[in-house]
Amino acid sequence: MNILITGGAGFIGSHLVKKFIDDGNEVYVVDNLLTGNKKNISDLEQEKLHFFEEDIRNFDYKQLPKIDLLYHLASPASPTQYKKYAIETLMTNSFGTFRLMEFCKEGNVKTFVFASTSEVYGDPLEHPQKESYFGNVNTLGPRACYDEGKRFAETLILAYKNKHDLDVRIARIFNTYGPNMEVEDGRVISNFIIQVLHNNPITIYGDGKQTRSFCYVSDMINGLVALGKKDDISGQVINLGNPDERTVLEIANMIKDLLNSKVELVYRTTDSDDPKQRQPDITKAIEVLNWKPEVALEDGLKNTISYFKKKLQPFS
Ligand code: NAD
Ligand code: UDP
Repeated sequence: MNILITGGAGFIGSHLVKKFIDDGNEVYVVDNLLTGNKKNISDLEQEKLHFFEEDIRNFDYKQLPKIDLLYHLASPASPTQYKKYAIETLMTNSFGTFRLMEFCKEGNVKTFVFASTSEVYGDPLEHPQKESYFGNVNTLGPRACYDEGKRFAETLILAYKNKHDLDVRIARIFNTYGPNMEVEDGRVISNFIIQVLHNNPITIYGDGKQTRSFCYVSDMINGLVALGKKDDISGQVINLGNPDERTVLEIANMIKDLLNSKVELVYRTTDSDDPKQRQPDITKAIEVLNWKPEVALEDGLKNTISYFKKKLQPFS
C-alpha cells in the first residue's frame, strides 16, 4: 500500500511510519520539522520512505502517487509548543487540512484518518468523556488555538465527506507518551523524566490534583492502524486512549520512585483553562475496532525512562 503520513517525523507519527514500513508499505511523509525531528525516522528502511521536508499548507500533492491510506497528524500537540506557535497551529489545522481534503476530493486517497484530540472536550463537565459530548472550550483562552483548530478540522473533514462521499475517520487521541518525544516538548511525562534525570526539581503546574489518563505509544499505534484498516466506518469519530486515570502528583511520584530519586516538587501557576480531569470512555473503540490498550503505566514509564536516559547520555 501507499501510505501518506503528515507529521510523520513527530512523536506519534514516527512510530506509525515505522509500523507501516516494517509491514512492507511505501510510506510518504510530509513534515516541516516545526516540532518533529528527522532523527526519529532516519534509522528506518530508506528505500520505502519518501520524506518531504515541507509545510502541509504549501506542499504540491500532485507529485504523490495514489494513496491508499492517509494519516493527517501534522500539528503541534504539546501545550508549550502550540502556545508558542498559535497561528501556525490554527492555520495548519484549518488551511492545511483544507488542502488535504482538496487532494482527497480529487480521487487521490482511498481512506483518510485525522488525528484529533481530547482537547475538543476542553475542560470537560462530563466525565469520563464519550464521543457524544460537545465539550467545554473557551474560544479565547490560551489553549484555543489548538482546541478550535482541531474542532474546525473535524467539521471541515465531515463536510467534505458529506459533499464528496469520501471515506474519512477521526481519532480523538488522549494523552499519549513514549520514546521519540523531544526533550523540549514540554508535556508532563517527558518533562518529569528529564527533570529527575537531571536531578532538578519537578515542576507541578497548579496543585497537581488535576488528572490525565496516559496511553503508551505502541497501544496508540495499534488503535490508529485498526481505525485506518476497518471496513465501512466512514464518518466515525472514535476516542483512543487509556482510561487509567491519575493525578499529576501521582505521575510525579511514580517517576521519582522508578528512578529512586528524592528531588523536590515545586509548584508553578498553570493556565486558566488547564482541564481539571480527563478520562476517555473507550466503549466505542472496543466495540467498533476491537481495540483496547494493553501496556500498564509503570511498564510504559520504564520504557520511556530508558529512552530518555540514552538520549541525554548517549555514550554512557
Ligand atoms: P509532535 O509535535 O511530536 O508531531 C507533530 C508533527 O507535525 C511534527 O513532526 C511537526 O514538525 C509536524 N508539523 C507541524 N505543523 C506542520 C505543518 N504545517 N506542515 C508539516 N508538518 C507539520 O506531536 P505528536 O504528539 O506526535 O502528535 C501528533 C498528532 O496527534 C497531532 O496532530 C496531535 O494533535 C495529535 N494528538 C497527540 C496527542 C498526544 O498525546 N501525543 C494527543 C492528542 C492528539
Ligand atoms: N504539567 C505539569 N508540569 C509540567 C508539565 C505539565 O504539572 O512540567 C501538567 C499540566 O498543567 C497538565 C498536565 O500536566 O495539567 C498534562 O499536561 P501536558 O502538557 O502533558 O498535556 P495536556 O493534557 O495539558 O495537553
